[in-house]
Amino acid sequence: MKELYRHKDYSTVAYYKSILESEGIATMLRNEHTTMAGLSDIPIPEFYPNICVMNDEDYPRAWEIMRRTMHTNAIDSEVDISCKSCGEVNPGNFDLCFSCGEDLVGRNHKIE
Ligand SMILES: [Zn+2]
Repeated sequence: MKELYRHKDYSTVAYYKSILESEGIATMLRNEHTTMAGLSDIPIPEFYPNICVMNDEDYPRAWEIMRRTMHTNAIDSEVDISCKSCGEVNPGNFDLCFSCGEDLVGRNHKIE
């Protein structure tokens, strides 16, 4: 088992986990309850939620998927958006809620 990715925002980590699993890669989350305990306010990376790849042979492919997804989403934005529909917090550069698919930015630049 190898750690693949670590981020202070649990929803970001959970998002990547769901993508990896949809690609058939077995993963495990560690520190997933840290956020609930309020410890995520402490900037100690050791406590950040992180994704582990269960099978080492999947690691290169998992990392490739991560890189591709990060490039697409520009995930490292520090501005988060709360979904109006389900309340999930999404990274600021997301167009659609990763949880329910609600349009996060449409009201800003689309005519309704
Ligand atoms: Zn949503």
